[in-house]
Amino acid sequence: MDFLKSAIGGEVEKKSESRSQKEKFGYGPQAKACGSAGADEAQTEPWALAHGPLWEGKRGQLVRSQESKPEDHKLKLRPGALSFGVFQCEILYNRRMGKMKRPTALLIFTFSLAALLAGTIADSAPPAAMETITAAEMESALYFLASDEMQGRAVNTLFNKITSHYLAHRFELMGLQPVTDDGYFQYFNLLQAELLKDNSLEISRSNSSRSTVAMVKEDFFPSPLSANGKVSAPLVFAGYGITAPEHRYDDYQKLEVPGKIAVILGGEPGKMDPDSPFEGLLDSEYSDEFYKIMNAQSHKAVALIVIQGSSVRPRGMNFSRHAHLVWPEDPSRAHYTLEQYNLEVWAEQVKIPVLRVSRELARVILRDTPFDLEEIQEKIDREYQSQGFPLPQLEVTLETDIARHQTRIRNVLAYLPGSDPNLKDEVVIVSAHFDHVGPRDGEVFNGADDNASGTVGLLEIAEAFALSLEKPKRSLLFAAWNAEERGLLGSRYYVERPAFLLEKTIALFQMDMIGRDEEIPDPRNPRFLGLPRQRAQENRNSLHVLGYSRSEELRNLVTQNNQPIGLDLKFQYDNNPANLLRRSDQWPFLSNDVPALFFHTGLHPDYHRPTDTPEKINYPKMEKVVRLVFLCSWAAANQ
Ligand SMILES: [Zn+2]
Repeated sequence: MDFLKSAIGGEVEKKSESRSQKEKFGYGPQAKACGSAGADEAQTEPWALAHGPLWEGKRGQLVRSQESKPEDHKLKLRPGALSFGVFQCEILYNRRMGKMKRPTALLIFTFSLAALLAGTIADSAPPAAMETITAAEMESALYFLASDEMQGRAVNTLFNKITSHYLAHRFELMGLQPVTDDGYFQYFNLLQAELLKDNSLEISRSNSSRSTVAMVKEDFFPSPLSANGKVSAPLVFAGYGITAPEHRYDDYQKLEVPGKIAVILGGEPGKMDPDSPFEGLLDSEYSDEFYKIMNAQSHKAVALIVIQGSSVRPRGMNFSRHAHLVWPEDPSRAHYTLEQYNLEVWAEQVKIPVLRVSRELARVILRDTPFDLEEIQEKIDREYQSQGFPLPQLEVTLETDIARHQTRIRNVLAYLPGSDPNLKDEVVIVSAHFDHVGPRDGEVFNGADDNASGTVGLLEIAEAFALSLEKPKRSLLFAAWNAEERGLLGSRYYVERPAFLLEKTIALFQMDMIGRDEEIPDPRNPRFLGLPRQRAQENRNSLHVLGYSRSEELRNLVTQNNQPIGLDLKFQYDNNPANLLRRSDQWPFLSNDVPALFFHTGLHPDYHRPTDTPEKINYPKMEKVVRLVFLCSWAAANQ
């Protein structure tokens, strides 16, 4: 009899070999008792509770893996804190098991606080609470989040909601404070765009009666961010459509744009130049389409045409195939829909129609002009000087017709106020995204490393801060981002509507894929483009830290705090064509000048595959990584 199939619907059968591993963690027959109950009320929180690890004492026994013994969860004592430490740890442990009433604990705590402070300052050892961060606890929670039952936690699914309930529940049990009027949830709207039928593009020339009618999805397609509208206007070519005063670069300088349609290149100057002022090999925020639309609008363009740039992702993909990935004929049957979702707070700022066109159509537009597309682009990339010009003999008539469907989702945020009257207004953010890509073609993409690993790490760090007797001087925000897999949408929404001023946000520590050993078998594989060959056995103790090139201070902080941990830290990928620095939630913060570090153990062949499963996680190393992130956030909150 297969429990899972009846409750969630059949497609998880294929991976029976790893089920034995799961039974070890109580997802087998014995879970049936609670599971079935949970399944019926899957709408509500009990499902998450039924499978939540540790806190639920009696439940704790059920899900705790055979290997991990109760004493694993005991706090190991630091030599310095022996005498008073024993007393203090016992209390910490009991409180965790919820046996001790709060007022009495408080009394005892204050007493031992003085003792602890004396001990701690004396030998600047890692805070005792770090010891509460254990591989066993993370393993238990990870098996839950990355189970087949959780169906890959995709946005806009029940399992994504269950995960968010579970996280809020854990934060509440820790005694952390909610941040919004909706408790631990920061709600925001996504828009799913649907292509309707009235999309057209026609090019006519003043010196000819003939016009060129372009084919939708062959020569052009509307951007999912485009506003609806019909426009007829002359054209102006505006390079990459970028205005970057800090690089003394402006594609709109000396151009008459108001009332015209701006034609620009996708991407940014010097994409393949490691010394490019535009973040070297990394795509800077100037290559983001939303930025380009806002810039064209601010120059009063009435519509925007974006030419598929050589650097547009997926790299070098044929235009029509790209168009069908963005606008699949039948989205419900599509294997994967690129850019399926956008932020409502972005889309509502877009007032003009926006089309993407193939390079072939761009050459037709520039035909009968003295300009050649490749030559212009190479010239800009070589000289970092804009090459804009009007195209007076051309007129374009275009129309966009898109429907939008709203989806309401949430980030999960929890707060620990700082203890220092002057510094508590400043905040340190520790974060991870909890969504993954869900099931595809009947297989669950479990997302154990991506990013159940970072999510359980976030819970452990939040718990360690909550349990710590010493409260940090600055405030802490623990953020579980949603919709990262859909374009960093949860973290992008947060920087649009921050719970704490970004100017007062002194650092962010993002964990994404912290549970494996980097393995790049073939650097030519497009999935690993730009990354050097790597063997897992050589990376058993290594951790990539990204964002170091933006903050020397944070680089030193992580190096210092790694001393008691002893990981092989790698500061290598900030300026790299794989664009890793912008492929997780630290990026919207870095783009808003908030210093941030991205902790990442590296890509591997199971990345975004159904084979990214819990039994492949390197738990001992993950414990070290999470303890390091705890120490870094602790130091940042107290320095
Ligand atoms: Zn991820």
